[in-house]
Amino acid sequence: MTIRLAIVGLGKIARDQHLASIAATPGITLTAIASRNASLPGLANFATLDALLAAGGIDAVALCTPPQVRAGQAAAALAAGLHVLLEKPPADTVSALLPLEAAARQAGRTLFATWHSRFAPAVAPARALLAGRAIRAVRVAWKEDVRVWHPGQGWIWEPGGLGVFDPGINALSILTAILPRPFHLTRAELSFPENCASPIAAELAFADTAGVPIEAEFDFRQTGPQSWDIAVDTDAGEVLLQKGGRILTDDGKLVSGGPDEEYNAIYRRFVDLVSRGESDMDLTPLQHVADAFLLGRRRVVAPFIE
Ligand code: NAP
Repeated sequence: MTIRLAIVGLGKIARDQHLASIAATPGITLTAIASRNASLPGLANFATLDALLAAGGIDAVALCTPPQVRAGQAAAALAAGLHVLLEKPPADTVSALLPLEAAARQAGRTLFATWHSRFAPAVAPARALLAGRAIRAVRVAWKEDVRVWHPGQGWIWEPGGLGVFDPGINALSILTAILPRPFHLTRAELSFPENCASPIAAELAFADTAGVPIEAEFDFRQTGPQSWDIAVDTDAGEVLLQKGGRILTDDGKLVSGGPDEEYNAIYRRFVDLVSRGESDMDLTPLQHVADAFLLGRRRVVAPFIE
């Protein structure tokens, strides 16, 4: 059976990644769009999710809207009997997601919380490499220019928009995938522009269950070279994951690198989950972000004017 899919929220990520990856994935086909201000020729187009659900004729939705509306949309789609793919972050609170997992189970539908960075080509090799190493320390630098990567996205600065944790959660999704032990936050400093409800920068310290320190710097104010890097100090040298999980070096030697096919892998996994009647709802990265908002010391910094 080919899954008939609708994209909800035809914005930047839907256009940059989802459209091509859906087209490249056997077993799934784009049938409809639900977006208030955008449409695509040749498809059934609806202004709202409610109108899409009322019309029927689809099996699944990919929710590419901002996080603040995702859980409500997922609940409505599951209630209508659809499978649901959630862009990251899967929602704006952890608790909103728990009943959704139960609803999907009860309805026999797939619910998939995607973490696209986990599908970057060097992430699985990094996990395998680190499994055999004694880890001494971990440093994360996730610094990008918000004006370049999120132009006009006012939702990112609103409550639930996550601010710098919108990219930072990608680093957390990789860390939670490659490190051999669970870790938890021990300290956080969050910098809020005086005119924004979400942080523009964050300094985080974690410790894993063996006491290994993990430090992370997230910054949305980076101009010039951008960094999406994770450096792991091990007993056999530095394991360095760069470019958001695309390049892996071990003690300076290239181990793994490849093209960005994160979203192709996401859709292959979605088709597989649907065919097996399973869900995939790892909420750990979002839990770490929630912890940062719980434990973080806040400081107010210069206003952000786009
Ligand atoms: P975006 O460009 O703002 O697109 C989101 C779309 O959702 C908008 O174009 C809008 O389309 C719709 N929308 C906005 N507010 C809405 C609301 N209140 N209710 C219903 N629909 C609304 O944002 P994006 O960059 O695509 O990001 C969307 C999600 O993907 C975010 O969670 C983000 O973290 C994730 N993501 C983004 C990137 C990236 O590089 N941009 C990468 C990976 C993941 P209409 O006005 O037509 O309804």
